[in-house]
Amino acid sequence: MSDRMTHIERVVNSLQNKPVDRITAYPIACGVQRRLLSTPTTYAEWCSDPRKYAEAFVAGQRAMDYDFAIGLMDLSVCAGDYGAGVRFDEQNTPFVVDPVVKSPQDYETKFANMPNPKKGRSGVITEGTKIFVDKIGKEVITAGFLEGPLLILTQSAGAEKVFMDMYNHRSAVHKALADITRFDAAMVEEFGNAKPAGLVWDYLWGSYSCLGDKEYEEFEAKYARELNALTQEKGMAFCIHNCADLPHLDTQIKAFKPAIYSMAWYPLIPGSPSAKETIMKGYADNCLVAGNIDPQAFVRFSTEKIEKTTMNLLQEVKTAMCAKGLHSRYCVASGCEVPPALATKLENIKAVVDTTKKYGQIECN
Ligand SMILES: [Zn+2]
Repeated sequence: MSDRMTHIERVVNSLQNKPVDRITAYPIACGVQRRLLSTPTTYAEWCSDPRKYAEAFVAGQRAMDYDFAIGLMDLSVCAGDYGAGVRFDEQNTPFVVDPVVKSPQDYETKFANMPNPKKGRSGVITEGTKIFVDKIGKEVITAGFLEGPLLILTQSAGAEKVFMDMYNHRSAVHKALADITRFDAAMVEEFGNAKPAGLVWDYLWGSYSCLGDKEYEEFEAKYARELNALTQEKGMAFCIHNCADLPHLDTQIKAFKPAIYSMAWYPLIPGSPSAKETIMKGYADNCLVAGNIDPQAFVRFSTEKIEKTTMNLLQEVKTAMCAKGLHSRYCVASGCEVPPALATKLENIKAVVDTTKKYGQIECN
């Protein structure tokens, strides 16, 4: 069946749980879209030039016809701007090789001066977001993407180190988190100027495999609340991405109340919430939940297999939504970013969107 609503109409209705012509679709394809540019562009070039960064989102929209455009880059953007050594491979996701924090004192001193949100890769992502919002913001729902304070800290110091220092050097860790929260707030201001419809926060440490409720509250939630409120104050819908295996859904969906929550699913991990469980437990009652195709499926699966996977997810979601009396509060998405590697099959990204167009209609009996 062909679409009867525009992308924006469909998303707006989904956010309000109103009927839609079909469920929304958004495989989180970001860096991989550089491969759609007319000039050959490496990942390293794409992620350091706001124009190339933005053009890839425009090219991706033209090729795939998504319902959203979310400006995710990678998780070493902010750590790099704080001075971490980042390794850039030509065609893959950059990563931190030389952390900022080497001693407990570093928590107190290294984050005191915040990076300039207009410079470095923070500047690439904020300026690049503005460019793609200007180009396609009237066609699709756009959003910026920003790492939460605890994620920036673990990227800057190493996760294992931070998790130990939470106990051994508690006040120093809090000093770093408070400083990083000021930087995140400055980034929210800058994203606000770019005027995307929403801002997606990566709060991936809200995960029961890493932190309990009490620790999450102390080391992220209390900082996050302030940033969540600021996001809305600056005119952007507040959204969360968390691809953890055991996400803190009560805190991050029920208490934080995001407009959109993007999540993954790990079928082999007991307790990892499937789409059906997430919907049946009420997490989609007031939030547009996005999930949960394994990102590796875009590399490994045949087109036929990813079509089948998408059809199964659609069936699961429709059955659960009808049982819950919901009309449209799910987005067929990947659980995390589609790998930006050269091995990723672009045709599989298109297949997820096209299968949702074909089979994403909901009619409850
Ligand atoms: Zn993720």
